[in-house]
Amino acid sequence: MQDIKSFTLEELKREMELLGEKPFRAKQIYQWMHEKLVRGFDEMTNLPLSLRDKLSEKYSFTSLKQVCMQESALDGTRKYLFELGDGKMVESVFMRYKHGNSVCISSQVGCRMGCAFCASTLDGLERSLLPSEMLDQIYRITLLTGERISNVVVMGTGEPLDNYDNLLKFLTLITDENGLHISQRSITVSTCGLVDKMRLLADEKLQITLALSLHAATDEKRKKLMPVANKYSVAELMDVCAYYFEKTGRRITFEYALVSGVNDKQEDAGELLSLVKGMNCHVNLIPVNPIKERNFVQSEASFIDAFKNKLAKNGINVTIRREMGRDIDGACGQLRRRHKALQ
Ligand code: SAH
Repeated sequence: MQDIKSFTLEELKREMELLGEKPFRAKQIYQWMHEKLVRGFDEMTNLPLSLRDKLSEKYSFTSLKQVCMQESALDGTRKYLFELGDGKMVESVFMRYKHGNSVCISSQVGCRMGCAFCASTLDGLERSLLPSEMLDQIYRITLLTGERISNVVVMGTGEPLDNYDNLLKFLTLITDENGLHISQRSITVSTCGLVDKMRLLADEKLQITLALSLHAATDEKRKKLMPVANKYSVAELMDVCAYYFEKTGRRITFEYALVSGVNDKQEDAGELLSLVKGMNCHVNLIPVNPIKERNFVQSEASFIDAFKNKLAKNGINVTIRREMGRDIDGACGQLRRRHKALQ
């Protein structure tokens, strides 16, 4: 069965035509799904029953089920575990900031990129998410919180550019004026650095922010943390980042997880500085969130500050990521793993 929530309005019009229905039905159905966020055909009360029956015979309807939710006592961050139609599970995070609410979504069930410090990749990739399954994480959280979501970050489990076509479809739907209409500038997509796909994305000339998980400034150190570094060099990454900026005018965000004794010394900061100096970019330092399966330890506060200062003194835009929801299995994939282990 085809997945009705992943159709654009144009595609849905074509479907209605094929079913012998009037074109205005497409608009009605689209509104129910993407504006009113209903959870099934039976809620589409202005459609004749016969049409609702026909739709449920022909199409599958993605509607995620909440399995559990943890709320941080520290900052109100909420972490949701959702069940997909086939029983697989994904995590999403809801965060409140001064500038609005933000949701961090997963793009795959598991991940095949193998980054050494990440919990999401420990069991490999199970499957990629459909556009509707990415959307519905945001739709469900909108309904569950009763609050508007103004920012979306594709930084949960999975490598979004390893699910490229579905990601692009998702971006089209979430920014659509007939749906939640979230602005491109309020969306960040984070990648471990799939250079070919980054180039394709640049050619789309979207106004989204691209975040690159760099984590080390030399090939040698990066290879110790990220297997993808064996495929693409840091030099190739810098080239494609410059290309992204040239095509979109959007500055790149470099993410750098600080791991004690691995990449947090002044020498490492110096290497990062020479790499990004003169580029229009933003460096986001992330104190690594330790996972129990690995021995990585968070850098000491004094190292984190010294690392930041070295960059800032030299004119780099640099921030330290505020840790949200430390008390609720904050790191990628931890909630899902814990739940799986209990089953
Ligand atoms: N695959 C994409 C997006 C998902 S990971 C990517 O690699 O960017 C989102 C971010 O969290 C990445 O920067 C990733 O490197 C980082 N990350 C994963 N596990 C982490 C951990 N235990 N502590 C800190 N950051 C982590």
